[in-house]
Amino acid sequence: MEKVFNTIIVGAGPGGLSAGRYLKDALILDQKKEIGLPVQCAEGLSKRFLDEMDISPEPEWISATIDTTQIVLPNGKEINLYFPGQSYVIDRKGFEKFLARMSQAEIRLGQRVIDIEKRGGLWEVKTRQGKIFRSRYLIGADGPFSIVREKVFGQKIRVLPVVEYLVELTNNLDTSKLLIYLDKDWLGTGYAWIFPKSKNRANIGLGSVEKKENLNKLLRDFLENRVKKKFGPYHLLENRSSVGPWLEGPIKMVKDNAFLVGDAAGLVDAISGGGIGNAMLSGRLAAEAILNSDPSSYQKQVQSFFSEDLFQAQKILYSFDNQTLNELGQVLEKKNGDIFYLKNPQALLAFLSKPHLRKNIFGFLKLLLIYAKWKSKNT
Ligand SMILES: Cc1cc2nc3c(=O)[nH]c(=O)nc-3n(C[C@H](O)[C@H](O)[C@H](O)COP(=O)(O)OP(=O)(O)OC[C@H]3O[C@@H](n4cnc5c(N)ncnc54)[C@H](O)[C@@H]3O)c2cc1C
Repeated sequence: MEKVFNTIIVGAGPGGLSAGRYLKDALILDQKKEIGLPVQCAEGLSKRFLDEMDISPEPEWISATIDTTQIVLPNGKEINLYFPGQSYVIDRKGFEKFLARMSQAEIRLGQRVIDIEKRGGLWEVKTRQGKIFRSRYLIGADGPFSIVREKVFGQKIRVLPVVEYLVELTNNLDTSKLLIYLDKDWLGTGYAWIFPKSKNRANIGLGSVEKKENLNKLLRDFLENRVKKKFGPYHLLENRSSVGPWLEGPIKMVKDNAFLVGDAAGLVDAISGGGIGNAMLSGRLAAEAILNSDPSSYQKQVQSFFSEDLFQAQKILYSFDNQTLNELGQVLEKKNGDIFYLKNPQALLAFLSKPHLRKNIFGFLKLLLIYAKWKSKNT
């Protein structure tokens, strides 16, 4: 019989590896053969998460440093969110290997967890490879189809497909810019993206709540009609498609000495769907709750970090139709698309002169308030 660990962590992604960084008497189990693979991610990561986790960016796993997030509107006009050096496109494989090197927990790969039971006050974790591991605490860091969530919490969450390829392009990209394409008629609640990996390579993909059956066709159209026009002929290098959680509110994340972190808890950003940073943060918070012998504090801690306002922001943002988005582009057109021009009183006049913007003024005000609240918490 194996020793009894204090904690078993199921999943060696960013969430599980981050929990393992703080826990000595712990075992991380993962079904995969190599840390960091397969890469199913656009690899965008905000610097604030690295700061929060006390991690300095290292050239080994940084592909691009981002100064501008450019939102391309349905009519092709652009909005620029200029935050120099505030986010990165990482090399996820290298980054996860880096996280694994920081982990104090033992990591065992090639172990697929197939059952979990509580016996005699301990968690018993069974793997397809015929092993049984036991622990006092359990962390489910096992992604959107979490077996910990299913077996221990009995909860299901909504997951959506996301399609993406690593693509080689003919024309040079601006490697300091993330491109986000919004178009309500085309994608409904969702967006397409081009995240630069190098001058000629990018992660290109899209997701949509309403059009999930047609994603591959939508991506082909995107590549043929928009990407090719801007960046010339392209070559698909690697399919990076997968699924991600899509929630409209938080779920239960702690029960009986068991925790859910990252995608297993549905903790992706309600607007972007990004979840690397949230997985790391929630992994750390679960580890802290264990170290403090205070499991019940975890849910509250997580919810203080991950503002529920973002769910409301998600609904407002995706309620704007194409005319509204296009009118916003017109207001910002002469200011190089700079979103912060909206703080200017002259911008308010221009804003109010547009019928669709006027109709949505309360939505915009609410978004502004949510942003201000979020900013005050995150600076
Ligand atoms: C196409 C795509 C693009 C994305 N782009 C971004 C982006 O640009 N930025 C961003 O922040 N987020 C992005 N995300 C989301 C991000 O990838 C996830 O939020 C993140 O990986 C969550 O980390 P995690 O540790 O919770 O789970 P995961 O990274 O999913 O790790 C879970 C681990 O658990 C293991 N596992 C699962 N079940 C078992 C089992 N039964 N037994 C043993 N092991 C198991 C898996 O092998 C895996 O290693 C993207 C997602 C997709 C699909």
